[in-house]
Amino acid sequence: MGDLHNLSVKALAKLLQSKEVSAVEVATRFLARMGGNPHHAFLDIDSEATLTQARASDAKLANGTAGPLEGVPIAHKDVFVTRDFATTAGSKILSGYRSPFDATVIERLRNSGMVTLGKLNCDEFAMGSSNENSAYGDVTNPWDTSRIPGGSSGGSAAAVAARLAPAATGTDTGGSIRQPASFCGITGIKPTYGRASRYGMIAYASSLDQAGPMARSAEDCALLLSAMCGPDLDRDSTSLDVPVENFLAKLGDSIKGLRIGIPKEFFSEGLAADVRKAIDAALKTLEAQGAKLIPITLPRTELAIPVYYIIAPAEASSNLSRFDGVKFGHRTKDYTDLVSMYKKSRAEGFGEEVKRRIMTGAYVLSHGYYDAYYLQAQKIRRMIADDFQRAFADCDVIAGPVAPTVAWKLGNNASDPLADYLADIFTLPASLAGLPCMSVPVGVGESNMPVGMQLIGNYLSEARLLNVAHQYQLATDHHLQKPEGI
Ligand code: GLN
Repeated sequence: MGDLHNLSVKALAKLLQSKEVSAVEVATRFLARMGGNPHHAFLDIDSEATLTQARASDAKLANGTAGPLEGVPIAHKDVFVTRDFATTAGSKILSGYRSPFDATVIERLRNSGMVTLGKLNCDEFAMGSSNENSAYGDVTNPWDTSRIPGGSSGGSAAAVAARLAPAATGTDTGGSIRQPASFCGITGIKPTYGRASRYGMIAYASSLDQAGPMARSAEDCALLLSAMCGPDLDRDSTSLDVPVENFLAKLGDSIKGLRIGIPKEFFSEGLAADVRKAIDAALKTLEAQGAKLIPITLPRTELAIPVYYIIAPAEASSNLSRFDGVKFGHRTKDYTDLVSMYKKSRAEGFGEEVKRRIMTGAYVLSHGYYDAYYLQAQKIRRMIADDFQRAFADCDVIAGPVAPTVAWKLGNNASDPLADYLADIFTLPASLAGLPCMSVPVGVGESNMPVGMQLIGNYLSEARLLNVAHQYQLATDHHLQKPEGI
């Protein structure tokens, strides 16, 4: 079993069910690979906690009570609260925090039998596109360690690409599953808003936040998505009351006659030539498989940037008010009264980008500016969602790039937060509309760095999206490529 770490979630599950390997053996292999914390992907590793879960899985496999993914390891983005591991959301303000409960997504994956390998580095409170906003240091891209892995789920993408974990959870508010998946050459899906429970997922912008799996193939994502989604009506008021599908059962439909919408705004000047070339080739492959390419327009694509960077900070400024140093998290050592305690705890605990967003958010919500900014942004958000509905009258799925370029060098945008915001242009529209969307590896661009193609579907069409990606992956091997030396 020399290459256990190269096996898919599906293959590992099969070997575990047939008892060809034990959960402890599998966990031990991955823990060994995680030694020294390559790429600084992890924020918390606790071998004993992992092995305890693996031993429990082996007991279930032995006594016939195993779940479908029993013993398969997974690592979690550090914005999901977990009982067995610390949770920081990449922030100093939660340094050493231990949750008394598991997030619903974690609970579901545990109930299906998955073993937790540890918690993954991310941008502080999921605010960022490069993972450089983590309070605990940068994550490096396994394809080129002088480059960013993407963000905010950068640790998740790096861990899966470097075979430190067969799969990981991520969260996507404006692109944080799709963009790092694209930059690290893996597959990731953000489901329809409301599919995955937000209970226990530390809130950034609640009307946009959604959890999803990051793995090496669409097939593995389908398996994981079926396990992690489903109604959670008592604990998340925005949870959708629709049954979870077995997304795996839907893989296999031919894509003959599938209408793929190509938004002209996604292929504008800002798109780097190397990325365009890889996406064009992928579209040709889909065409050869029987799909039809239909030109469409998403005319408000550019407006998604200002709209998102008003709405998300507005919600963040409210969500993050709970971090005050009173009941949990960092409390300053040196204060005179309650207000000075709040002020100093927050000043010491939050990083620069988080403070910038809290201030922007408070500003756009304040008296006199609410109508001019927040309300206008909400109106345009609705128009962006309507544009998608008009487009879906002519096509079944939409395809385009995930990001305008391949992963950039660490430190490149360090003094220019706006540069990072602008690079979110292709992922923000689907987030604002709450649509399911994914990233699929389609080859490499400049400097041999991976390129991801984005697929966007209409509400609740995850099964179709995953099938399109799966059909593409049956015909190509881009998703099987790995970084040199791994
Ligand atoms: N890059 C975007 C931001 O900084 C998206 C982050 C996310 O999806 N969590 O807000």
